[in-house]
Amino acid sequence: MPVLPRPSGSLSTRAIDLLIVNGPMHRAALAEQAGWARSTTSRVIGELVADGFVVETDTVMTGSRGRPHRLLTLNPDAGCTVGIDFGYRHIRAVVADAAHRIRAIAVGELDVDYPPETGVRVAGELVGEALSQARLPDDALLGAGAAVPAPIDRRTGRVSHSSMIPTWAGRDVAADLRHVLNLPVTVDNDAKLAAAAETYWGAGRGYGAYLFLKLHSGVGGALVLGGTIVDGGNGSAGEFGHVGLDLTGPVCRCGARGCLEVYAGIPAILEALRPAHGLLTLAQATRLVEAGDPAVRRVFREAASKVGQTASLLCNAFNPDAVIIGGALARASEHLIPEIKNCIRTLALPTNHNVAVLATNLGPEASAMGAVRLAFTQLANRTAHPR
Ligand SMILES: [Zn+2]
Repeated sequence: MPVLPRPSGSLSTRAIDLLIVNGPMHRAALAEQAGWARSTTSRVIGELVADGFVVETDTVMTGSRGRPHRLLTLNPDAGCTVGIDFGYRHIRAVVADAAHRIRAIAVGELDVDYPPETGVRVAGELVGEALSQARLPDDALLGAGAAVPAPIDRRTGRVSHSSMIPTWAGRDVAADLRHVLNLPVTVDNDAKLAAAAETYWGAGRGYGAYLFLKLHSGVGGALVLGGTIVDGGNGSAGEFGHVGLDLTGPVCRCGARGCLEVYAGIPAILEALRPAHGLLTLAQATRLVEAGDPAVRRVFREAASKVGQTASLLCNAFNPDAVIIGGALARASEHLIPEIKNCIRTLALPTNHNVAVLATNLGPEASAMGAVRLAFTQLANRTAHPR
């Protein structure tokens, strides 16, 4: 497989960079982002199509005046990247091509709290497995992105020392992966990457300001303002799972009391159900709530109420257009969202009462897809989302 083409003309390079970062685009959107006149766009794209760097897809979308538009995309044979998501007890590797199409997904199960050495070794094996699933040679990969369930310190690129996963604190996961994969690698926090995927492919499209809440084993989040994910001073903005709701509440793994995570993390929800049902899986609990089981409905509503309290505080602080629920708990979103909305209407300032509250539509691959996008962005050497 050839490496991603880099034609010599600066206008052509600009067009390719935009297609790397954005995936398939309308000609008009590309022209607008590049700041080009129609004639310049036609000439540049015409040359790239003639040289085989860019193709027009068969996907036809209807434009605002009802006219069909074909989409421009990089030639899918130009190369792939892999997004790796280090989860609580799993690792996912998603290989996608330059047209942003997913070519293969490999998932490995691990023990909870696996050490980083194990994680990196298994990630290397899963990348190999995904490549063979997609029948791609090793040199098809041009770069990798990785999602880690901890803040990444912007100043060092390492897992933050204040991390709630002590064995990963201070680790340079990008360097570890580079050593195994022999590729350029960039790393970021898993919830921020999931939000990046929401912005480009998911429920966040069209929202310039939104809160993303990843309700998973751990509770994470991201704040998107002006279309950009907010990093904060050193990269740890968006740790909404550790918003303190009750100073006398249970002690959290971060050392504080009464954080959102101790009420709305999946382990907390399943633990609360243990007296009524024994230890359930999330899938079993979700089936029970759908069947109307009173204990499960109560526990889900109480968890949603804590999410709603947190969202109310954050809405007052940031006035977002939307609150997007991600993570595995989003599968039960229809049993959570009414109570979240109810809390926002009760607790937040009136200006926030009509904020949209919606669930992800990207499924369990969201963080890995964000990592794919990060890898393409890194390849394009742009500064729009530096990681
Ligand atoms: Zn905490």
